[in-house]
Amino acid sequence: MIRVRIAHLYPEEMNIYGDTGNVIALVRRIEWRGMETRIDRVGLGEPYDFTDADLVIAGGGEDRSQMRVAADLRQRSGAIREAVADGTVFLTVCGTYQLFGHRFVAHDGEEIPGIGVFDAETLAGDHRMIGNIVLDTPWGRLVGFENHGGRTHLADGQEPLGRVERGFGNNDTTFDEGAVTANVFGTYLHGSLLPKNPGFADLLLLRALRRRHGAGVSLEPLEDDLEHRAAEAASRRP
Ligand code: GLN
Repeated sequence: MIRVRIAHLYPEEMNIYGDTGNVIALVRRIEWRGMETRIDRVGLGEPYDFTDADLVIAGGGEDRSQMRVAADLRQRSGAIREAVADGTVFLTVCGTYQLFGHRFVAHDGEEIPGIGVFDAETLAGDHRMIGNIVLDTPWGRLVGFENHGGRTHLADGQEPLGRVERGFGNNDTTFDEGAVTANVFGTYLHGSLLPKNPGFADLLLLRALRRRHGAGVSLEPLEDDLEHRAAEAASRRP
């Protein structure tokens, strides 16, 4: 029996706009295929070897939550980089996505250093970017919800997750959204992201299984009619 190990990073501190739904969606899609899951909740100060995980999931949070986790995240920077180099799959949403860049400068001007997995930096702006968002990505269309004050700017050469078809994305000028480095995905899409984007959930899962069990692994297709109808409805919502 294949068992997939999911690390849920900062489940208490970094979890808004339904981000825990990303863990739940993965667990369901794994168990619907007859595989087992183990979830490791990794909170502040709890030692953890990220190379043990197949998938690492982390959500968003207000500026003050980011300030609470930032020092702990920096202490894990070496362990996270080791796992990134080893091909561990990460999904980082909004506040954690920003801290996986070089820095986040909050609205009050306080600079929060990040861990620099993404060649990007985020500066808070005057107004928040809120609403439903639709992206075009190499892995198909993604739909979600965004609510952030931070504007993320990718350095030249840093791959984005996708192009904004509707909404704001990384900032209100470049129409790119998120970032991708190796198997590390960063995005502003809450909602939560994976329940309404089953193809992307399976992409993360397949990469994780192939890292652990070899390139020959494939995933049995699931009946995703409800998920697709939910995404369609969300993509039409103003
Ligand atoms: N606090 C950050 C910002 O406002 C991230 C918000 C979030 O995670 N939704 O940009």
